[in-house]
Amino acid sequence: MGMEQDYKAYAQRREDMATTHFGPLWLNQEKRYVHPFRIFGNVWYVGDSWVCVHLIDTGNGLLLIDSGNAGATSLLVQAIWEAGFNPADVKWIIHSHGHLDHIGGANFFKRMFGTKLYLGEPDAVMFREKPWISAIQNAYNDCDALFTPDYEIKEGDVLTFGSITMEFYLVPGHTDGCVAIFFDAHENGKTVRCGYFGGFGFNTMQKDYLIEIGDPEYKTREIYLQSIAKVRDQKVELFLGNHCINNDTLGRRQRQLDNPDGPNPFLDSELWGKYLDQKRDEMLAFMCDPKNI
Ligand SMILES: [Zn+2]
Repeated sequence: MGMEQDYKAYAQRREDMATTHFGPLWLNQEKRYVHPFRIFGNVWYVGDSWVCVHLIDTGNGLLLIDSGNAGATSLLVQAIWEAGFNPADVKWIIHSHGHLDHIGGANFFKRMFGTKLYLGEPDAVMFREKPWISAIQNAYNDCDALFTPDYEIKEGDVLTFGSITMEFYLVPGHTDGCVAIFFDAHENGKTVRCGYFGGFGFNTMQKDYLIEIGDPEYKTREIYLQSIAKVRDQKVELFLGNHCINNDTLGRRQRQLDNPDGPNPFLDSELWGKYLDQKRDEMLAFMCDPKNI
């Protein structure tokens, strides 16, 4: 093909992308930029208005929870700088699960800075054996790629990063390798327990999807409920979202801005349990809906 035909094929791909379900999420990602902010103590928000990324200053290197959407690494780098940190100091990235909207910066950080990449073991297996489950093929850029984790997270792992010790549980459902994380954050002598659940979306609970991945009995939905139940009663005073919608990240940020001297709107001991119960109830309703059976 000549240059003109190549260009036309490219223009057609771009036009088609705008009409797909996920395509619009890749166009003009800059409009989702969020000015980074401190949530509490050494825990910062450096994600966009759709996908969360959290930065934790461990006192001996920075840790990220997730590395942003595919194609959005420049936004993440800018957010880290704007928060007052140097992206080169990111020593570890813990990935909530292996979908393309959470792993975007992984290869960049590893190649640029030697950052160590963490992923739940079942999603590491998925990357090797069924990489299409990651949906990386929907990244619209063939330079976006899966990565080889430096460490595969297992059930019950307790890992230390600088001054922070994190407890990990596997919470399969949204993907097989979703992880839940619990750790303490500190501010002015106050310690709060942070909780994170690495994937709530029902997009991977749909009938056609489950049939395609070889689960015609929809066992994945039961597994999702078991995972919610497993960590439901953890003590969590600061619930960190996987997507902003989980904990109304931006609404809470607005309250922080509106009342800077008021109580920290992110500290809420009820929210974790309430949200997990809500997702349980939504899943039970989803499973009873005739269109999902
Ligand atoms: Zn996902």
